[in-house]
Amino acid sequence: MSALPHCPACDADYTYEDGAMFVCPMCGHEWAQSGDDAASSAEDSRDIRDAHGNVLIDGDTITVIKDLKIKGSSQVVKVGTRVKNIRLVDGDHDIDCKIDGIGAMKLKSEFVKKA
Ligand SMILES: [Zn+2]
Repeated sequence: MSALPHCPACDADYTYEDGAMFVCPMCGHEWAQSGDDAASSAEDSRDIRDAHGNVLIDGDTITVIKDLKIKGSSQVVKVGTRVKNIRLVDGDHDIDCKIDGIGAMKLKSEFVKKA
């Protein structure tokens, strides 16, 4: 009972448990508890965080915090590159986005921060 997560919507720490769900009384957000038991009903419980632990959501603007080589090309996404309108996806590279001058690509959330 001592380690309830902060609300992913507003980051309040007044979370309480309601069955298989967590509920935030501050903003009314409800989300499924992570873990094997709740996995089947947890389709919208993705919790993709940037390098600083901020939760990312579809449509966010992020900044790349590390030079990233693009596989199969000589191009590099430079540190400090701003990327608008990201889309979160499942997988090892969990951010789908389009970068000016480069095109569509996927990034790892651990190498970005929310702008
Ligand atoms: Zn909340």
